[in-house]
Amino acid sequence: KLVSREFRHEDTVIDVQGTKIGGRHLGIMAGPCAVESLDQLLEAASAVKRAGAQFLRGGAYKPRTSPYSFQGLEEKGLELLAEARERTGLKIVTEVLDSSAVDIVSQYADVLQIGTRNMQNFTLLKTVGKSDKPVLLKRGLAATISEWLNAAEYIMSEGNYNVILCERGIRTFETYTRNTLDLGAVAAVKSLSHLPVIVDPSHGTGHWKMVRPMARAAVAAGADGLIIEVHPNPAEALCDGNQSLTPENFSLLMDEVGAIAAIT
Ligand code: PEP
Ligand code: MN
Repeated sequence: KLVSREFRHEDTVIDVQGTKIGGRHLGIMAGPCAVESLDQLLEAASAVKRAGAQFLRGGAYKPRTSPYSFQGLEEKGLELLAEARERTGLKIVTEVLDSSAVDIVSQYADVLQIGTRNMQNFTLLKTVGKSDKPVLLKRGLAATISEWLNAAEYIMSEGNYNVILCERGIRTFETYTRNTLDLGAVAAVKSLSHLPVIVDPSHGTGHWKMVRPMARAAVAAGADGLIIEVHPNPAEALCDGNQSLTPENFSLLMDEVGAIAAIT
């Protein structure tokens, strides 16, 4: 299989418009769960940039559990992301919810995010497989490692080898945490595949207080990067405020993770 270590022995390094991720290159993606306004986005973007992130995350199309929850600013959100890139130089990571939106999201994004709920949306996987944009493939919330790697294979089999895997927690019997962050999967994937794997301790725990410890653990376990939710005012966030870091806490996270990366 294209995804396997047997197919490619060395770690794949993905170049996102000049920013590398994989191998010894740690990629840090941070920003709000959802793009809410220009002010909110620029405040988050400048804070994460100052702390050392290379990528700005932010959802313009949100896959919410309830149809009555905020669904995102849609194309307006994409425009705001492009403006934040213009002002900060950060690369943009944003979710594409279905294959009909791949064209429009690709006009604005540097990395196409496939969310956990879409990990086995094979039509979408094949569509982004034909795209020239790198893909961030989140693990399905009830997917085995093998199913996750097969989802990556769907993308690669269409010609797009620039796939970044993301462990974001899986559903278990535990209810205290939003999901159970499976750091064992990071070590497993590093041995099974050459693709970079990053960790999302925000969705992986659901609690902002757990994000820094699990980010440290992820990098110690060999993750090639992190995706972290950061909001200028988490208490007011329209989405996922409980798991969002303040800019101050994100800056502490970056210092801690930098120290661990230096000795790993
Ligand atoms: C997100 O990144 O905000 C998101 C919706 O993630 P997931 O698909 O992992 O739930
Ligand atoms: Mn979120």
